[in-house]
Parts: sequence; C-alpha cells; structure tokens
Amino acid sequence: MRKTKIVCTIGPSTNSFEKIVELLRAGMNVARLNMSHGDLTSHQETLNLVKRAREYMKLPCAIMVDTCGPELRIGTFKDHRVELKKGDKFIFTVEDVVGDSGVVSCPYPALLKVLKVNQKIYANNGLLEFVVKEITKREFICRVSVGGVLSDHKSISIPHIRLPLPYVSEKDDKNIEFAVRNDVEYISASFVSNKSDLDALKRTIKKYGGRQEIIAKIESLEGINNLDTIIDACDGIMVARGDMGTEIAIEQIPAVQKNMIAHCIAHAKKVIVATEMLESMTTQRRPTRAETTDVAQAIYDKSGATMLSGETASGCYPIESCDTMAKIALATEKMVSYDDEFLCNYTSVNKSLSAIAYSACASSRAVGAKAILCFSDKGKTADAISRFRPKADIVAVTHDSYTFNRLALTWGVTPVLANEQKTQEEMLALASTVAKNLKLAKTGDKIIVTLGLPIALKGTTNAIHILEVE
Ligand code: ATP
Ligand code: MG
Ligand code: MG
Repeated sequence: MRKTKIVCTIGPSTNSFEKIVELLRAGMNVARLNMSHGDLTSHQETLNLVKRAREYMKLPCAIMVDTCGPELRIGTFKDHRVELKKGDKFIFTVEDVVGDSGVVSCPYPALLKVLKVNQKIYANNGLLEFVVKEITKREFICRVSVGGVLSDHKSISIPHIRLPLPYVSEKDDKNIEFAVRNDVEYISASFVSNKSDLDALKRTIKKYGGRQEIIAKIESLEGINNLDTIIDACDGIMVARGDMGTEIAIEQIPAVQKNMIAHCIAHAKKVIVATEMLESMTTQRRPTRAETTDVAQAIYDKSGATMLSGETASGCYPIESCDTMAKIALATEKMVSYDDEFLCNYTSVNKSLSAIAYSACASSRAVGAKAILCFSDKGKTADAISRFRPKADIVAVTHDSYTFNRLALTWGVTPVLANEQKTQEEMLALASTVAKNLKLAKTGDKIIVTLGLPIALKGTTNAIHILEVE
C-alpha cells in the first residue's frame, strides 16, 4: 500500500463527477479547493461532487479548503492574458479596470504606502519580474525586468514587505464559513507568518463552530523564521515552494524543504510538499526526469504527502499526473528503510498516546508484523503511529465517517469504516478479518492491534495486542 499521500487541486480540468472518480482511482487522497480561484458557487458544486464521488467509490478522501491569505492578486485582462517583454512599461492601478498589455488592476490602496521606488515585484511564482519606477496616488508604474505571460488573477509577490492586511480578510472569513458549513476535514492557511496568524484563523473557525485541522502554508521568509512556533500551533505544514521561491534564494529551497519535513516528523505534525512537482505534465503526458526525482526526494525524506497544483487543476493530463505521482511514490517507498530510523524519534515520546504509538511500532518491528491496526474514534492514535513512519502498514478502523476521510491525509494510514464493536474479542476478530481482506496478512502472520479498554470509554488507546491472524 502506498504510504505517501497525494493532494490534488481541483479546477476546470477536473471539476466533474467522472474526473473526480478517475482521480480517486488514480490515487487522490485529498481534494484541494483553492479559494483564490473560482467563486463560492463553483466551489460548492465541486465540493458536492467530491462528496458524491468518494461515497460512490467507497474510498476515503479528505477535502481541503485553501484560503486566500494576505495575498495580492491582479484583476483580469481583456484577452485573459498578455505577453510582457523586458523593458516594457507596465502599470498596476488600484482602479477597477479591465487589463491590457499596459495596465492591470491591483486593488490594494494600502500597498501604495509601503512600496518604494526600485522595489522588485514578482508575478507567476517569480517567472516575471518588475521594478517599481514611480508611485502615484492611484498606481505604481513599473518597468518589466523579466518578461513572460501574465494571466487573470495571478498573484504578485513583493519580497520582505509586511503587507498592511489583516490575516483573515472579509473574503477569507466567508471562505472559512464555507469550509465549516460543509464540514470539510482540512483548512490550508495561505501565507502564515507567525503564531498570531494562526490564532486569528482559529478564532474564525471557532466562531463558526468548526472542527477543521489546520495546515499552515509556509511561503514567506517570516514564516520560515518562525517555523518552530508555527509548527506548535497547527496540525501540519505545507512547504509552499511557489511564493517561497521569490522570498528566499531559489537554491535554499531544497534545504528549507528537508528541514521542514524533519521538523514536522519530529513534532508529530503532518507535512505536504507542494508546487511544480510535475509541472511539465500540465502540457505533456510524461514528466521530466528532474521532476520525477523531485517527487522521489520528498518521499525519501518521508514527507507525509506530495501535492499537484496546476497539473490537476488546469492541466491537459490531470489523471496521468496523479497516476504518475502514485507510481513514483510506490517505486520509491520500496527503497526507503522505514524502520531503521524511527527509534531516534524516541526523544519526543512524552505522552501516553505517543508512548503507545511508539510501542506499537517497536512491537511490529520486533515480531515482523505486516500491519498495525488501530481502533480509533477521532483518529488520534493513527496520527500518532504514523509519525514514527513504521514499515508496517497502518490500518485505522473507525465508525466515524469524518475520521475516515480525515485520515486519508495521514501518512501510511489506510482508513477502514466499520460498525462499533462491543467486546475486545469482537475487535480482535475484526482486526484479523480486515488485515486479511486488505491482503496485508494471511493466516499465521502477526499483526499489531491497538485499542482502548474499557471499550465504553472512548478516546483512550491503552492496550497493544500482538496477534496471530487466524
Ligand atoms: P497558491 O494559492 O497556493 O499560490 P496558485 O494560485 O498557484 O496557488 P493553484 O491552486 O496551485 O494556484 O492552481 C494552479 C492553477 O490552476 C491556478 O493558477 C489557476 O490558474 C488554476 N485553478 C486552480 N483552481 C481553480 C479554480 N477553482 N477555477 C479556475 N482555475 C483554477
Ligand atoms: Mg493561495
Ligand atoms: Mg502561489
């Protein structure tokens, strides 16, 4: 079973029932809706399709709503795109205009106060570069220093400038209300710079009565510098390499990525590597060798998940992209010696749950168990086991469909939906059956089972069984 999870961004190329079913077949574990594109009506339609498709396929699939965050987006162009050349004059105006090759709308008056002449501005994840030449009351006039294609609603980034924007904008407040109303499993928070950004987000989720896990997208220098406090305050991190690549030198990204993955694993948090993983597949059926190796590198480092963006949202080969990513993951995972290292993580085993999880992994290693099955209400035991990155497959048996879908993002975990069992004997018998049905173990093989006793007391895993499958 594949251990590394795959996040697919859903967009115009994939927002039909058939395509979502095909993505699920190809290995999608999480469907991501980026609120920076499209509108709430179209996202509602897509979200309903994902829910229908995952039920139809009887497969777990988490839904992730990606906020806009304090980002700067340009408006639209008459022909949806323009080609800009080095040396061209180009104006960003706060007025609501339809853009062309000389001007585009950029509706943030507060920006005019913090911009300075000679400041660099990037668009399209750094592919285009502008230099500010003049700032007036309503616009900033730039010179194109690196040309390229600019299209509708692309984000622009201004390195090292703290934008005078609240972390949760009015628009994101509505997006979070949307996420909570639809009871999605994850909110990925764009441009998290510090803990107080996360506090603001949590207050908003709480205001609407939500229970979403938060994945903090790290994409600014401030975010990188505050990694430790951010990790403490969220459920996981996304290494958002797009905007990050304009904030720090591009050659630093590999080291930052490696460090973030290691930190997340050590602190028992989720981690997703994102942006341009199979970028060339937006227009070609096969990825470059370099992209293939990039995906593999994230897997060697034991990232919890890898993500597809434009490849599945607006590319020509969305299903092939997901299928390719799944194949790279499977092939690479065979080469990783998972159990060899997990003992080092013992230093941070400081709570009963992590001690139980650690012991389950140690036991599976000691007896060569093929699978660790955990009976989990909210999925916290499965999350805790996953963090040690064991070689054995982790199966989370739950009666809660929210947990079932939420665990789709947890590294190494196969969620299984089952009725609540009344006795310990029934649970152990079910564990054997599930392991056999999933072809993880056959008669005579050993499996590890974790559960909570007494059974009626929910939320406490406190027992480990080493079981021979009957
Ligand atoms: P981020 O917000 O993380 O910086 P992004 O703006 O680069 O991401 P992605 O979510 O990675 O965008 O999606 C890639 C591209 O797919 C977008 O630039 C956009 O052109 C297109 N896209 C994504 N979602 C939608 C959507 N719901 N409707 C229309 N186009 C979309
Ligand atoms: Mg965004
Ligand atoms: Mg981006």
